[in-house]
Amino acid sequence: MASIQFSRAETCGNETAYLADVLAGGQFASHGPFSQRCTAWLNSAFGAPASLLTQSATAGLELATLLTGVGPGDEVVLPSFTFVGCANAIALRGATPVFADVDPQTLNLDPASVEAAITPATRAIMAVHYAGVPCAMDEINAVARRFGLWVIEDAAQAFLSQYRGRPAGTLGDLAVFSFHGTKNVTCGEGGALLVNRPELVDQADSAHRNGTDKTAFEGGQRAMYTWMGLGSSFAPSEISAAVLLAQLERARAITEQRRMLWERYHQAFAAAERAGRVRRPVVPDDTMHNGHLYYLLTPTEAARDNFIAGMRRAGIVTPFHYVPLHTAPGGRTYGRTADSGPLPRTEHVASRLVRLPLWRGVAEIQNRVIETGLDLLERF
Ligand SMILES: *Cc1c(COP(=O)(O)O)cnc(C)c1O
Repeated sequence: MASIQFSRAETCGNETAYLADVLAGGQFASHGPFSQRCTAWLNSAFGAPASLLTQSATAGLELATLLTGVGPGDEVVLPSFTFVGCANAIALRGATPVFADVDPQTLNLDPASVEAAITPATRAIMAVHYAGVPCAMDEINAVARRFGLWVIEDAAQAFLSQYRGRPAGTLGDLAVFSFHGTKNVTCGEGGALLVNRPELVDQADSAHRNGTDKTAFEGGQRAMYTWMGLGSSFAPSEISAAVLLAQLERARAITEQRRMLWERYHQAFAAAERAGRVRRPVVPDDTMHNGHLYYLLTPTEAARDNFIAGMRRAGIVTPFHYVPLHTAPGGRTYGRTADSGPLPRTEHVASRLVRLPLWRGVAEIQNRVIETGLDLLERF
């Protein structure tokens, strides 16, 4: 039997035609017609004051930390249970990532743990919507307001997720999406930054274009363009934008298909959860997830490792996820926890989590994944 991959990038229709247009059209670099159409799609979906395409969510996070102005001596609070790019974006500015604990139900940043990590040096909170389930953003924003902090949303996994009727990505001052090959909507490597504060739009646009005033020049408001401030080459090529546009145009259908696969797993493991053999994801009633990721929490780390090994023997790839950043060499060098202590909930969760294959083609083989998984869980 062929092995079942954990993740797979899938086309959805117009990628080849749009790519052919780019290749025939003579503009391969950034800011061409496909980039403009992607940006228009994002503007109409999210209504942010500005939407900027980036070469990755990681690049978007780096642009976001640049825009907040954090630097040496400043601290940014973020979960330890997240992707390394979050912490790098802070450390690359010379600021200190301060790792907070997660809510054991959602595995998202716990507002109380954020508050406990705040010091006079804190400048920002980076909230990560794990598995496409939005964080408790009203509570996190309330903490931010009380202490005068920026809020950066890492919505890399949460494209088209919702929180209290509002889209993820519109809930913080700045937000990033990822269009990486493992994400719901993809162009291989890509991302976007939503700028939700109107007064940041000009600075964001300039930083996105190597810190220049090129947009004003292109609009005829300048005779030439030049270096104005800090920035980098954040924009993706038209080649990426062509693939991205094809996927954006199908994004709502992709999300629905993934939500159905997610739901099928959720039903299938309900009885095992009632029997105490596993814990399923918790999605708060006031959020809507996007079917990005289906995970299970086993009772122990040994059970998780046995599960992964058993699935691998059956040809099914079911990876664990983040190594908590506060325990990683980079995390110990560049960051710290609130009181330099452990983050017990993060460590407990990370050691027991396993992810199931979820891409649209899984529909045909999902029963095999479910039956093998249930069988393994019964044996622990
Ligand atoms: C995927 C991911 C990123 C990084 O996305 P890239 O586009 O690969 O840079 C950042 N944060 C989280 C939470 C992610 O899942």
